[in-house]
Amino acid sequence: MTDDYEKLLEKAKGVLSSSTKNIDRLKIPDPEIIREGKATIIRNFQDIVDIINRDPEHIIKFLTREFGTNIVQNGRRLIINRKLTLEELLDKMNEYINTYVRCYECGSLDTEIQKSGRISLLVCKACGAQHPIHSVREVKDDETVEEGKEYVVEITEVGSSGEGRTTYKGYTIFVPGAKKGETVKIRIKKVKNDVAIGEIIERDKQEKK
Ligand SMILES: [Zn+2]
Repeated sequence: MTDDYEKLLEKAKGVLSSSTKNIDRLKIPDPEIIREGKATIIRNFQDIVDIINRDPEHIIKFLTREFGTNIVQNGRRLIINRKLTLEELLDKMNEYINTYVRCYECGSLDTEIQKSGRISLLVCKACGAQHPIHSVREVKDDETVEEGKEYVVEITEVGSSGEGRTTYKGYTIFVPGAKKGETVKIRIKKVKNDVAIGEIIERDKQEKK
């Protein structure tokens, strides 16, 4: 009957979090990371999401954009398809929290995002302050691949002239000199419609297992 007990606990937690929650007293846990091959896994991702009370999809979108790699949630864990240090991760998590969660006036984490026309407002439940969210780069639904920008991609195919090829954010990217199965950091040289050309600026030197 442990299952039922667990369910009951979850329910109780849900009720508590909607009525008597006081996020100010809660501390955002540091990400607990482990590495598996080329991936970095945040074991306690859901714990962090529960505290900051944001849509995990929004956080994933932000991190995907910042890290330029594939990110998926798996249960309570987050799997980032790239090797990252704790510092790199903390840096981006803090950027997210400071932009989308922490009140700009009083620093409370007890806030919510409200849409006002095309503007997103960060509304503080502790002090009542309302501020337009000034993100460095707003998280957009339609992500694009831009010339001069850098991305980390995994080469999934080989083109007719032997160049590496991959599909990324809806674009087909050609990467001359890249091999199938390789993960490379590229800089975009040219974009035309949904096709882009990238040049390799860094290769993953680790052998593929
Ligand atoms: Zn406030």
